[in-house]
Amino acid sequence: MNAHKNRQRGNEAQPEALALNYGSRTDVGRVREQNEDSLLVREPLFVVADGMGGHEAGEVASELAVNTMDALSATIIDGATLKNAIIQSNRAIINAARTGVGRPGMGTTMTTAYVTGTTLFVGQVGDSRAYLLHGGILQQITHDHSLMAELIEAGQITEEEARVHPNRSIITRALGNDPATEPDIFELTVEAGDRLLLCSDGLSGLVEDDELLRILQQSPDPQRTADLLVAAANANGGHDNITAIVVDVAKMQPLSWRKRNHSLHASILAFVIVLVLLCGVAVGGIYLYARNSAYLIAENGTVQVYRGLVGSMAGISLSWYVEDSGVNVAQLAQSTEERLATGIQCDSLEAAQNTVDDYRTQIDDNQKLTAEASARTESAQSTSTAAASAQAAASASAAAASAQAQADSAQAAAASTNG
Ligand code: MN
Repeated sequence: MNAHKNRQRGNEAQPEALALNYGSRTDVGRVREQNEDSLLVREPLFVVADGMGGHEAGEVASELAVNTMDALSATIIDGATLKNAIIQSNRAIINAARTGVGRPGMGTTMTTAYVTGTTLFVGQVGDSRAYLLHGGILQQITHDHSLMAELIEAGQITEEEARVHPNRSIITRALGNDPATEPDIFELTVEAGDRLLLCSDGLSGLVEDDELLRILQQSPDPQRTADLLVAAANANGGHDNITAIVVDVAKMQPLSWRKRNHSLHASILAFVIVLVLLCGVAVGGIYLYARNSAYLIAENGTVQVYRGLVGSMAGISLSWYVEDSGVNVAQLAQSTEERLATGIQCDSLEAAQNTVDDYRTQIDDNQKLTAEASARTESAQSTSTAAASAQAAASASAAAASAQAQADSAQAAAASTNG
C-alpha cells in the first residue's frame, strides 16, 4: 500500500494525464431470485453496493446508496468529499427506512473508487472489495468489515476455512444501521497499465485471488474481463449476486491515430463545408451581380439586350435574353458597331436601355442631318437650274432681240433698195 502511495510522488507538480477505460456487469447468480447488488459507473466515480435485508429491502438499500453517490458525484473531488458522500448515503438509507421505504434494518455495503489525476481514492464499508492489478501483482486495497476478516486477523481461522464458514456473510460494518458509521478511505497513486477491480462478495467469495488474477490478465478489454469474472463466479456455483467493475488506467493519448484521423476527417469536412459555403456565397454574389447587370450585343444585324454578363465565367454563361431593340447596327457609328460585335457591358438593364435610346437618337439625328444635307443639295441644284433657265431665257431673248435687229436692218435695206 505504502509502496503505491509513494509511487510517482515526483510527478505531482505535473501529473501524467490518464484516461479510464471500464466495463461492468452485475448478475443475479445461479441461486438467488433477486439481485440485491447495485452498481454505479460515472467516470471517474465507480460504486459497488451489496444490499441486505431480504424481501427486496436489500435491493432498495443498495439502490439508495448508489443513487445518493450519483447525486453527490459532482461534489466529490478528494478523499474527504468521497467520505462525506458515503456518510450521506448512509443517512439516506436510515431516513428512507424511517419513512417506510424499504424495511427497518436494511443495509448495504459500499466500495467506491474515485480517480483524479494519478490519485485513486477508495471508500469502504462492508465486505465488497477493491483490488488493484499493478505490474502483474493483484493487491487487495480494502479490508473487509466482516466477522471472517476479524477472525482471520486474530489468527483464529484461515482464509480457506472462512470461505466455507457458516457465519461467512456476517458483516461488522454496513450502511443503513448506524448514523455514526464512517467508511475507510484509502489513497493510492495509479499509473498507466494499472487495472482496478471493484466487486461484491458474490465474486470474491467464489473466485479465489489466483483465479481473479488469471482472469484479470486474460483480456485487455475491461468489459470482456467483467463478463469473464461473472462467468467464473457462476461456474463456481453462483450462490450470491455477482457484481464486477473493471477500470483500466491508460495513458491519455493526446491524439491517437484513430482520433487524429477522425479529427483530420473532421478538419477536411469543415474545410470543404466552408469552401462550399464560400463558393455558394461567391456564386450567389456573382449571380446577383449578373442578374442586376445587362449588356448589349450585335446579333443578326440589330442590337440585342441581355441581362447578365458578356461572355462566360469558368465556362458558365450568366445571361438572360431580354429583347431585340430593333436598332440597326449598320446605322451606328463605326466604333460603336465594332464594340457591339463583342458586347458592351452595362451597370444595369436601365443603363442598357438608355444606351439603346441614345443609339436611336443618334440614328434619328444622323437621319435628320442626312435629310437636311440632301435637302440642301437639292435646293442648291434647283437654284442652279433656275439660274441656267434664266440665263437661257436671257440668251434666248438676246438672240431674239438680235434676230429682230437683223430683221429690222434687212427691212431697212429692202426699203432703201425699193426707194
Ligand atoms: Mn453479496
